[in-house]
Amino acid sequence: MFILGAGLTGLSAAYHLQGRRFVLVERSQVVGGKARSHREAGHTFDVTGHWLHLRDDRVKALVRNLFSRGDLVSVRRKTNVWSHGALLRYPFQANLHGLPPAVVQECLEGFMEAQVAGATGAANPAHTFEDFARTRFGAGISRHFFVPYNTKLWGMHPDKLTAEWVSRYIPVPNAAQVIGGAVGVPQEGLGYNVEFQYPKAGGIDHLPERLGAAVKARADGTCVFGSDVEEIDVEGRRIKLSAGSDWQPWSRLVSTIPLPELIKRIPGAPAEILEAAGALRWVKWRYLDVATKAAPKADYHWVYVPERRYPFFRVGVYSNAVESMAPRGRGSLYVELEDRERPADEAEVARALAQMGTIARAEDVDFMKQRDIEYAYVVFDDAWKPSRSALLEWLSSKGIHSCGRYGAWVYNSMEDSMIQGMEAAAWAAVDGAKGATR
Ligand SMILES: Cc1cc2nc3c(=O)[nH]c(=O)nc-3n(C[C@H](O)[C@H](O)[C@H](O)COP(=O)(O)OP(=O)(O)OC[C@H]3O[C@@H](n4cnc5c(N)ncnc54)[C@H](O)[C@@H]3O)c2cc1C
Repeated sequence: MFILGAGLTGLSAAYHLQGRRFVLVERSQVVGGKARSHREAGHTFDVTGHWLHLRDDRVKALVRNLFSRGDLVSVRRKTNVWSHGALLRYPFQANLHGLPPAVVQECLEGFMEAQVAGATGAANPAHTFEDFARTRFGAGISRHFFVPYNTKLWGMHPDKLTAEWVSRYIPVPNAAQVIGGAVGVPQEGLGYNVEFQYPKAGGIDHLPERLGAAVKARADGTCVFGSDVEEIDVEGRRIKLSAGSDWQPWSRLVSTIPLPELIKRIPGAPAEILEAAGALRWVKWRYLDVATKAAPKADYHWVYVPERRYPFFRVGVYSNAVESMAPRGRGSLYVELEDRERPADEAEVARALAQMGTIARAEDVDFMKQRDIEYAYVVFDDAWKPSRSALLEWLSSKGIHSCGRYGAWVYNSMEDSMIQGMEAAAWAAVDGAKGATR
């Protein structure tokens, strides 16, 4: 069988596969996909923050197998929101204290109105993400945080997005927590990512590297790096790689490459499938690796920046979480930019970081490097559900299991991706006669 893509999903599929020979095909020369790291002048940068949150026992066991005791550090999240010139605790909706009093009052009034509407059944059912924010948190919290922050992040107003991805990721505090947070009682520990794991030596790529080493060591598999998939013949169950001119047969195929890219490589796909693929939307990411000559002034691991006057929506400081990410006395940061078209104005970014107090002075920046990710976030709009279902069902009927963050077209964490790899291996094994070669 073939596995397309050696990110965490494809690697996990190959690692867990039993009773079948496999060929793992990766376009890049290295494993890891989004979970890669770049190193420069002693600084380490991931593809923006890649913090490993573990909840699932199977993934915890996998990670324990890959890392010796002490090779991973556990870090308790330090996260803030920068708004109206104040550094608030995260999440905004539960920590309003520090905002100008009129803004706190507006947020609390809206929250109470939303609570009453919810209790009396007067609230409209939430369809869009904006509806979700207004019904759960009220008009003020939406106006000062959810709408501006998400407009910057998604590059579109949240009334264009559905609320399908949010339930796990957005903490919903109760009334006591919102009121407590507004009068200055810190509301800590809310949300899914209170603690995370990270390789002590620095760089999330240690995770795929170790998984990849175990996969490469398997005698029943072949890894082909530096090869794209040129074409897939779904009726003849054959695949042509750019690294070789011959067609190769497959009986089962696991794909973790982005769904639109997979469909492009199937010339025989019917019109309704091409149409469904054409309806998928995604957002690109443009971000900066930032190295500083001095230790950053702020102590947070990352900060949310909803206001439009800043050119970024989130800034993280890798070296505040894990020391080895920067040489002693220096800092390694990421800056996620709102504008993904024009080149970043580095001087403006440095000034904004100093103004927010992330770094002491703009001159502390040693170097910046702009980076782009074509497929970063899947867009959850009205077309998402029907298009995705049509594509995955059709592919499945042809013996193709498309999975992972971009293969299943979802909002996956690294842990989710590794779980989907395990599930793909189980799927492939269902009719896997022992020793089957393809
Ligand atoms: C900005 C950002 C921040 C994130 N932060 C976190 C975080 O803090 N914590 C967390 O748990 N998760 C985080 N994630 C999610 C995490 O990165 C993903 O869940 C996970 O890495 C996805 O793995 P994957 O294998 O499904 O996809 P990918 O990592 O995209 O792997 C797909 C692989 O397929 C290869 N490929 C693509 N096209 C082809 C082709 N045509 N032929 C051959 N190979 C091809 C690619 O080179 C790549 O190696 C973040 C994601 C992003 C974008």
